[in-house]
Amino acid sequence: MPEDFQTIKSRYELAIVGCGPAGLAAALNAKIRKRDFILLGSEFCSPKLSKAPQIDNWLGFPEIGGEELRQRFLSHVKEQEITIVNFKVTNIYPGPPYTLMGKDKSFEADAIILATGVSVEKLFPGEAELLGRGVGYCATCDGPLYKNKSVAIISYNKDGEDEANFMADICSKVYYIPYYKEISRLDPRVEVKKGKVKRIVGDSNVKQLDLGEEQLAVDGVFIMRETLPAEQLISGLEMDEAAIKVNHKLETSLPGLFAAGDCTGQPFQLIKAAGEGGTAALHAVKYLDNLKSPGPKVPIL
Ligand SMILES: Cc1cc2nc3c(=O)[nH]c(=O)nc-3n(C[C@H](O)[C@H](O)[C@H](O)COP(=O)(O)OP(=O)(O)OC[C@H]3O[C@@H](n4cnc5c(N)ncnc54)[C@H](O)[C@@H]3O)c2cc1C
Repeated sequence: MPEDFQTIKSRYELAIVGCGPAGLAAALNAKIRKRDFILLGSEFCSPKLSKAPQIDNWLGFPEIGGEELRQRFLSHVKEQEITIVNFKVTNIYPGPPYTLMGKDKSFEADAIILATGVSVEKLFPGEAELLGRGVGYCATCDGPLYKNKSVAIISYNKDGEDEANFMADICSKVYYIPYYKEISRLDPRVEVKKGKVKRIVGDSNVKQLDLGEEQLAVDGVFIMRETLPAEQLISGLEMDEAAIKVNHKLETSLPGLFAAGDCTGQPFQLIKAAGEGGTAALHAVKYLDNLKSPGPKVPIL
């Protein structure tokens, strides 16, 4: 079970973003190599793995259920005394050291492994164009900018309810557009809209949310997805269509930034995710060693 983010220090050698098979395998290797690292994830690690009814291609465990394998992964990292910190990274500023931003908190890391999986949801029309100009992924981070203003929160999961409740204390109006069933803890001041988003409208800034039959006049739109598109998380990251471009060391186009798992592209398979996670960690360790004492280059293993 992920722990609260209060435990975060101000700086780490390595930050692993994502607690699916790729992130967990990376953490295991970082732990074995005795690195100063942090493993960041969501409240429920890898909903994808949990949904797999039966897995036939995980070596040594024929016909295992996804949820059972997930539990085994979590117990394994727990046995190794690895803590999963419940912290959603919403933005990363260039480095090294990189600055990782999230709700109410930021911290630094010399190296990062992105293991965020892939987002199955497409971007909304207008989202990319208005990002940073009224469109954001963390309402509580930008809250003060929207004092006495009107905002909409589009959410694919219950996490959005906490964000909406927080904004209800600050904003003159908060709309909530859920893309899931059963709202559980929403403040009565938040107005729920059942429509589906057609477009986020604006020019220099967000002006309106188009729900087809209804137009909401808003100053900000926050989108809460399980996984943010990688290129929105950090600028300058080279992509190959929707996948993060990596070499065989799982290095991305940015120094000290590695990526592993579904976020590096197909095949979307457990064995690839875990294998890449472990490999990325070993190369990140080597990178960190070189940072401390740059010397002649030697093969990793
Ligand atoms: C129904 C189904 C059946 C499947 N069956 C099989 C199968 O039989 N065999 C097989 O090999 N594969 C199967 N897969 C695919 C397999 O589940 C994925 O390939 C694997 O889970 C990918 O692992 P990952 O670590 O890359 O990403 P994920 O498992 O998606 O994990 C990513 C994690 O990172 C977290 N995260 C994302 N962004 C952030 C952020 N910004 N900050 C903090 N945390 C973040 C997410 O919440 C999530 O917990 C199946 C998938 C599905 C959906």
